[in-house]
Amino acid sequence: MKPASFDYHRATSVEDATQLLSELEDAKILAGGQSLIPLMNFRLSTPPHLIDISNLPELSEIKVDDRSVTVGAAVTHTTLLKTQRVASELPLLVDAEKLVAHEVIRNRGTVCGSLAHADPAGEMTAVIRVLDGAVRTSSVDGERTIQAVDLFEGPLQSSLKENEVIVEAIFPKLGRNSLSSFREVARRHGDYAIAGAVSVVDYDDARSIASARTAFLSVGPVPILISFDQLLAKTKISDIGHDEIYEIVSSQLNPQADVHASADYRRHLAAELAWESLKACV
Ligand SMILES: Cc1cc2nc3c(=O)[nH]c(=O)nc-3n(C[C@H](O)[C@H](O)[C@H](O)COP(=O)(O)OP(=O)(O)OC[C@H]3O[C@@H](n4cnc5c(N)ncnc54)[C@H](O)[C@@H]3O)c2cc1C
Repeated sequence: MKPASFDYHRATSVEDATQLLSELEDAKILAGGQSLIPLMNFRLSTPPHLIDISNLPELSEIKVDDRSVTVGAAVTHTTLLKTQRVASELPLLVDAEKLVAHEVIRNRGTVCGSLAHADPAGEMTAVIRVLDGAVRTSSVDGERTIQAVDLFEGPLQSSLKENEVIVEAIFPKLGRNSLSSFREVARRHGDYAIAGAVSVVDYDDARSIASARTAFLSVGPVPILISFDQLLAKTKISDIGHDEIYEIVSSQLNPQADVHASADYRRHLAAELAWESLKACV
């Protein structure tokens, strides 16, 4: 199918984009179009106006400082994946991006578009959740920062207001005593995962675990975070018991069944992937 007719607006600046968004009725931001255009082609979304932000130089930067990697709203998955500084300073972002869709989709799809789209099967939603990151937004009413925990409200539902544009995503860097690992199972490489788990383990100077947490994708309406701090505090990674992790995860997740997997299988898979990703953080 073809999309319903719409007017295309190429924003000349963030200010222009927010102005257009506030003036035009039911307008939508167009970034890479990799989620929005398929929805429009199926007439599941029929916005009368699209505001294209994909060519704005002010949104095309990746900034790395002591604390975080900040990704502008026009930065594609491919650019993030191929940026050497990101690979050395926050390799988890690259590990995750390798699992996002296929190359042609990564070439156009944006990191911030993924977050705005709020798909609980999206790798970057789980990554920003486990890192306790945030997005910065702009609108005619001003700017604000939304923490990842407050951004995702349900499947394809975010807490963005209708007149807000995400201008950048902030991914806090891990400390020198922290390790991360991403595990997922998809029917084919590049497909959305049936389930996935991304773990971060922080160690103290004696190499005991100070903190451990896992964010899950594709097992709930939003990316779900489970902390293992109580269980793991001050133990060695080799002391982690499979059955305890399995029990904690499977008792806290309540996934839905779909054509790809039953709810039970998805829960089982998520628990095993959590175990594997935690054990990989050594
Ligand atoms: C076949 C296929 C397979 C895929 N597989 C995966 C996968 O395995 N994992 C994965 O994570 N993703 C996958 N994707 C989605 C892909 O990652 C998209 O790039 C991403 O979800 C959306 O980014 P986009 O830039 O294309 O956003 P768009 O499609 O342009 O926009 C998506 C939504 O977000 C809004 N939006 C976009 N940017 C902003 C912004 N800056 N501020 C406010 N609102 C904004 C739009 O208005 C729209 O509602 C897949 C897509 C396809 C078509």
